[in-house]
Amino acid sequence: MQVMQILREKGREVMSLPCDATLFEATRMLSQKRIGALVIRDGQGRLAGILSERDVVRALSTESITALARPVSVYMTRAVATCTELDTVEDLMEMMTQGRFRHVPVVDESGQLRGVVSIGDVVRVQIEETSREAASLRQYIAAAG
Ligand code: AMP
Repeated sequence: MQVMQILREKGREVMSLPCDATLFEATRMLSQKRIGALVIRDGQGRLAGILSERDVVRALSTESITALARPVSVYMTRAVATCTELDTVEDLMEMMTQGRFRHVPVVDESGQLRGVVSIGDVVRVQIEETSREAASLRQYIAAAG
């Protein structure tokens, strides 16, 4: 299955904040939207980085609550691994496993954000595919028997 199909099912909304938003604002958005990572945009609205709950935990463990007033740009990861809608679920699993992250922004040819895929989306697709395969195998065995 391709990323395109995942986005068709889950939607293309990208939860994001500008680089100068505070870490506190990020914690509120992560909590209210019940998600694990936010895309951080530059002044032109382009992808500037990604901030996940792990970055928040790291910031709080090293700087305590003073971190909450500082901009997200201090704590985000700047070298963001992205994918396109044509990538497959297998490509994403490989990317997430190698890079040890659980979120991948989807971009188009011009670098515009088209959505975000999380490890939860990937696992859901895998479970659906496995269930479908098991059902068709059961059908095959029943027909053969
Ligand atoms: P996660 O597992 O997605 O919560 O993120 C773990 C770490 O990887 C955090 O430091 C994130 O900022 C970083 N990270 C998350 N997604 C990506 C990505 N697509 N590319 C590069 N780094 C990422």
